[in-house]
Amino acid sequence: MKAITCAGGVELLVDYLEGALPADVCAALEAHVAGCPRCVAFVASYRDTPRILRDATAATLPAHVEASLKAFLRARTTAFRLS
Ligand SMILES: [Zn+2]
Repeated sequence: MKAITCAGGVELLVDYLEGALPADVCAALEAHVAGCPRCVAFVASYRDTPRILRDATAATLPAHVEASLKAFLRARTTAFRLS
């Protein structure tokens, strides 16, 4: 099979990280990643994504924004029920 390059490797890396690759492709990819800082960085950031998303969504709304949002949604819900 042809050598793995970074350009063609991103989709492979995602499959690899999800355990969806055949063993031979997996081995070839691991050999490439071992000598490739760009792919190492990609794998590290991909594995870190759940933590980044958790951090990004952990922010809470200011109380007055939450209150007015809830009031808005309640008003819309009522309007839908009436129509
Ligand atoms: Zn690479």
